Amino acid sequence: MDLGIKGRWAVVCAASKGLGKGCALALAREGVNLAINARDAATLAATAAQLRELGVEVREVVGDISQPDVRAALIAACPQVDILVNNAGGPPPGDFRDWEREDWLRALELNMLTPIELIKATIDGMAERGFGRIVNITSGAVKAPIDVLGLSNGARSGLTGFVAGLARQPRVAGHNVTINGLLPGSFDTDRLRSGIQRAAQLGGHDESELADAEKRAIPAGRFGSAEEFGAFCAFLCSAHAGYLTGQNLLLDGGAYPGTF
Ligand code: NAP
Repeated sequence: MDLGIKGRWAVVCAASKGLGKGCALALAREGVNLAINARDAATLAATAAQLRELGVEVREVVGDISQPDVRAALIAACPQVDILVNNAGGPPPGDFRDWEREDWLRALELNMLTPIELIKATIDGMAERGFGRIVNITSGAVKAPIDVLGLSNGARSGLTGFVAGLARQPRVAGHNVTINGLLPGSFDTDRLRSGIQRAAQLGGHDESELADAEKRAIPAGRFGSAEEFGAFCAFLCSAHAGYLTGQNLLLDGGAYPGTF
């Protein structure tokens, strides 16, 4: 299937590894030019080189996406932003009794306000041109909270609630601009692996046994791959997905036990 987005420009945040990289690769395979970002310059450069091999233009912006100058540079790196994939590292786990106000502000900054700022900077241009696709990578925690990830549960739900209203504005949806949330369950990335490692150390478990137990708890019997996550994201960004907006799509191998 031709996704009908060849030659368009996408900003993909936090894209040197994991899910963001999966999205960038899938968009590049469709001929989408990219501005990508992450904090570590060497890893970002390696990913950019891999993307260029697919024949698209790629511009790199190094830095923390929660910083206004980094966001401005990412947007300025594209002639126009047709597609925006919001992503960042997730907040750390913990007990809310230990979190200070500063911890909450950092989580809100990174996982709620940063994507909102990027949407604000790009959405009106998308609407004027009659095409825009915005995908927010959030978490399955938006639908089923994870107790130790309270900062993520809170900040990402804030983003999700805000976007639910924005996506339905006639000057957004009525101009072929869509905004959807992609909610990862358990995907085999560095973040997942380091979480398992930490849990194994804390609980005195064997790491691979713990990973196997987590896989068994997922009906699909495995972790997801960044590649399949990216392919789904590319479809959401496609010319064919213009009637799909304001949704939160869970990719979790069936782990969420509800009917809806
Ligand atoms: P990952 O494999 O650790 O990759 C994270 C990527 O984001 C890297 O490229 C990293 O590069 C970049 N990054 C992190 N913080 C950044 C920042 N402040 N500014 C710019 N770039 C930043 O993580 P992932 O598994 O792909 O997770 C992506 C998002 O999905 C996270 O928010 C995570 O919480 C969420 N999520 C993941 C899963 C899962 O199973 N993997 C499940 C639920 C939710 P640098 O470190 O060089 O900046």
